Amino acid sequence: MSSTTSRRPLALAIHGGAGVIEQGSLVPEVEAAIHADLARALDVGHAILATGGSALDAVEAAVTVLEDSPYFNAGRGAVFTAEGRHELDAAIMDGRHRRAGAVAGLMTVRHPVRLARRVLEDSPHVFLIGDGAEQFADTQPGIERVPNGWFSTEPRRAQLREAQQREQQAWHGNDDLRGRYFGTVGAVALDSRGHVAAATSTGGMTNKRWGRVGDSPVIGAGTWADARCAVSCSGWGEFYIRNAAAHDIAARVAYRGDRLRDAVEDVILGEVPQHGGDGGAIAVDTEGNVSLVLNTRGMYRGWVRPDGARGTAIYQDA
Ligand code: ASP
Repeated sequence: MSSTTSRRPLALAIHGGAGVIEQGSLVPEVEAAIHADLARALDVGHAILATGGSALDAVEAAVTVLEDSPYFNAGRGAVFTAEGRHELDAAIMDGRHRRAGAVAGLMTVRHPVRLARRVLEDSPHVFLIGDGAEQFADTQPGIERVPNGWFSTEPRRAQLREAQQREQQAWHGNDDLRGRYFGTVGAVALDSRGHVAAATSTGGMTNKRWGRVGDSPVIGAGTWADARCAVSCSGWGEFYIRNAAAHDIAARVAYRGDRLRDAVEDVILGEVPQHGGDGGAIAVDTEGNVSLVLNTRGMYRGWVRPDGARGTAIYQDA
């Protein structure tokens, strides 16, 4: 076997959220900065894979970079709740052992994905929420804490004002909600040992209340990884939960033997919009197939395929 054919495939895909992102709506400097932040997340995640690191480490590191970017709805740049705060959700899942960690309603953890990883590693649980999750963070050295206002940015404040002006309209079935008030970041990776992992992190939905939690931290809805593939979703979370979207993609691969691309397309272009939702998903499998699918006008995204082909994109037709 030549050294090329004996090399195990590595793959990485990331997203910075799906939604209404019109061509020409971003000023060129912002568009360039978004591509640069996506590229940085790819660099950081892929460097881990290329030096023999695990898919789990790679997705955590890539998502951490995206959480620090003010352009995406996760960590800094997260959307505001109805009370004018930020409540952050995240999950991470290791396909090799099917271990998972998830957190929701965080107020002070700079990198929610890192706390999700600690839940996976250092707790007997899968999902911690609110005050309890913050108390767990208190016990974890190295989990950086910030005041809640650290996550705030002006564009998100403007988005909250707009959402509150529209509030008279019914949420249910309101097309204006589609793709406008959401956003998420996520990563999926295949490592040199043939294992996959997924991670997702989000501020959730603009103007959310009552402790609303979307699909991102819900294992099987917005985040999933097993022995065959890893999936991270973005979109109108209620519909991803109702469709168990991430797990549905993996189940089609596992039980029907679907190709990864067909499974992702069936769920993201079929099930989710048929039930009224919108959004996208990224996925990798253990053969190195990478799939990035959206039913919205845009999804911030990036990929490195096993042959080294790499790119970043924003709009649907890119
Ligand atoms: N799915 C996330 C949520 O509903 C938001 C998004 O991905 O756009 O919380």
